[in-house]
Amino acid sequence: MTGYRGRFAPSPTGPLHAGSLVAALASWLDARAHEGQWLVRIEDVDRPRCVPGADQEILRQLAACGLLPDAPPQWQSQREPLYQRALEGLVATGAAYPCACSRKDIELALRAQGRERSRHGELVYPGTCRQGLAGREPRAWRLRVPEGVVAWTDRRLGVHLQDVAATVGDFVLKRADGLFAYQLAVVVDDGEQGITHVVRGEDLVDNTPRQLLLQRALGLPQPTYLHAPLVLGANGEKLSKQNGAAPLDLRAPRAALGAAAATLGLEWSVHGTVADALAEAARAWRQRWP
Ligand code: GLU
Repeated sequence: MTGYRGRFAPSPTGPLHAGSLVAALASWLDARAHEGQWLVRIEDVDRPRCVPGADQEILRQLAACGLLPDAPPQWQSQREPLYQRALEGLVATGAAYPCACSRKDIELALRAQGRERSRHGELVYPGTCRQGLAGREPRAWRLRVPEGVVAWTDRRLGVHLQDVAATVGDFVLKRADGLFAYQLAVVVDDGEQGITHVVRGEDLVDNTPRQLLLQRALGLPQPTYLHAPLVLGANGEKLSKQNGAAPLDLRAPRAALGAAAATLGLEWSVHGTVADALAEAARAWRQRWP
C-alpha cells in the first residue's frame, strides 16, 4: 500500500447509471493503478434530494461490478458535527460570516449595482453581509472569498484559472434551511479522510476552485484532481435521471463496465473474469495517467 487514498462520492439521488459508473470506475482504476486505497462516501447531506434506498442500491451495483471499497462506506448525514466544527472554526477566524440575505434580497442588490448574473446564470453574491448583519437575522453562512484568480492543474484537462470572487462571490457553506452545502461537506470529508487524489466527473470541474479556497481556509492539504469524461444524454447534456439515464443492469455488469471503460478511452478485455478485465484496465490506466 502507498499513501494514496482515493474515493467515489455518489449522491444517493438514484441508482448508478452509465454516467456515474464512469466516475466510479475512473476513481477505482486510479486507486488500483497507484496501489492505493479506494473509499466510498455516500453524499447524502442534501437530504431533500436523496431517494430512500438509493444508497444501498448504489453499494450493491458497485459490488456487482467488482468495485469494492477498502474500508466501510461513510455517510455524510452521520458526519454533520464535523462540518459544524469546521464552520465554527472559519467563523472564529473571520473566514466565514453569517448572511441574512434571501434570494430576492440578492437579486435586488445586484440590480441596484447594475450587475449581471455569472455565466452560469447563478447570482454572484454582492457581499451585502460581509461587514455585518445590520441587525438582521442570520439565515446562511458564507465563505469570505479572497480577490484574485485561483490557478490549478487538472491531471487530464491541464491548467485552469478561475476568479472565484468575480464569478461566484462569497459562497454558501451552511444553507438557510440548516443543511450544510456540498462544498463544505466535500472539503471537510476529503481532508478528514486523508484523500490524496480526487477523481470524479468533469461536471464538477467548476467546483474545484471553490474547494481549493476552502481547503486553504481550513488549513487542509490539497489533493490532486482528475476530472473524467462525461457520458452525454440524448439532449447533449450530462447523462442524468432527468434526461433518460437507465439504472445499471446488475445482471450485465461486464457490458456496463465495458461501456464505462470505452468512455475512459480504455480497452476492455472480454476474456477471463471481470476481476481480470479490471486488473488489465488498471494497467492500461497507469500508462495513460501515471
Ligand atoms: N456527490 C457529488 C456528486 O455525486 C460528487 C462529489 C465529488 O466527487 O466531489 O455529484
